[in-house]
Amino acid sequence: MQTSKQVQSLPAYLFSVFHKKKVALMAQGIDVIDLGIGAPDLPTPPFIIDTLAEEARKPENHKYSPYGGCLEFKSAVVAFYKNHYEVELNIDSEVLALIGSKEGIAHLIRAVLNPGDGVLTPDPGYPVYQSAIHLAHGATVRFPLDEENGYVPKFDHISDRDIDRSKMMLLNYPNNPTGGTVGIETFEEAVRFAKKHKLSLIHDAAYDLVTFKDYQAPSLMQVPGAKQRSVEFGSLSKSFNMSGWRIGYVVGNQELIRALSVVKSNMDTSQFLPIQKAAAKALQSDFSSVRSNNLTYEQRIDMMMDALADMNISATKPRGTFFVWAKVPEGYTSQGFAEKMLDEAGIIITPGTAFGQNGEGYFRISLSVPIERLHEATLRMKKAMKGG
Ligand SMILES: *Cc1c(COP(=O)(O)O)cnc(C)c1O
Repeated sequence: MQTSKQVQSLPAYLFSVFHKKKVALMAQGIDVIDLGIGAPDLPTPPFIIDTLAEEARKPENHKYSPYGGCLEFKSAVVAFYKNHYEVELNIDSEVLALIGSKEGIAHLIRAVLNPGDGVLTPDPGYPVYQSAIHLAHGATVRFPLDEENGYVPKFDHISDRDIDRSKMMLLNYPNNPTGGTVGIETFEEAVRFAKKHKLSLIHDAAYDLVTFKDYQAPSLMQVPGAKQRSVEFGSLSKSFNMSGWRIGYVVGNQELIRALSVVKSNMDTSQFLPIQKAAAKALQSDFSSVRSNNLTYEQRIDMMMDALADMNISATKPRGTFFVWAKVPEGYTSQGFAEKMLDEAGIIITPGTAFGQNGEGYFRISLSVPIERLHEATLRMKKAMKGG
């Protein structure tokens, strides 16, 4: 059978490749510790599950949801932006419920691009961007996120040629995979840049609430004028441990949101109402469950930072996300080091190159593993490093 050229030429989704490797090793009886997965290990808070169970028993919730999401969920998103960021949103035109933000990002790209249009995309960056652009017959136009610049784009280093071939720009803070975070001034610069070059600006805020100490991640929507050409994607997957529930949202520019809703209304009929209503409860909560998660991640990060320092591996402690982005030791490539860790320590780490060529020389450790397992992982890593 002949599938489409776009599907045939799509690189295998990174995490499914790792999953296959892991399954094969575990079948051999090897106790693999997977520090590669980007989803929380912690359970969904009970108040959210209780709401789901209650709502699931109501027959009126068994029907199709309105295309753009139900009123309860959309109002919760509007209230969240008001309370958290002091941003006003029009519930009818500036908010849409999504079946996870990944779905929304992929469909928005499809809704905006014509064949050959470029998308300025961070390198390293979340691999879904590249695949979604490819499936939409677009071109990924990479710009680097470098350690020396705190993983913030150097807007004035992006070439005219790259700007001219692009229609959109993607940003993601707190950043996966680097853990990079920004202040509002980076978003101000991004909005100016997008306006000057007539680009649509897409901010993926999947880790908006996964932050440590007194750092609070800003919203792109806080920049005056941002709504003229930008949207921001949010997700409950990471902040409320709801990755399997598939619920997220997009807010911002009306035209972009309308285009996305046209694509979506022809492909899906939004999320199961009880899930939307449970997610609304989460967004209306006092966020104590989020703070408690963040404390857990921070303890794990501190432990990993100490262990990395012991091994002379350089890494900056992140202010957000549950990832540590670290430098591979002298003499290794990212791939070589990841293979050594798998073969000699039974640990899956993600080579930086899985997120783009500019990730060479780095690896990503995901802290979504219980602290005892993480401790075991650090012991095994140290042993493998001593072995040379
Ligand atoms: C996990 C993740 C997402 C996807 O989140 P869902 O809402 O579960 O689809 C999007 N962007 C980044 C950077 C992520 O790490």
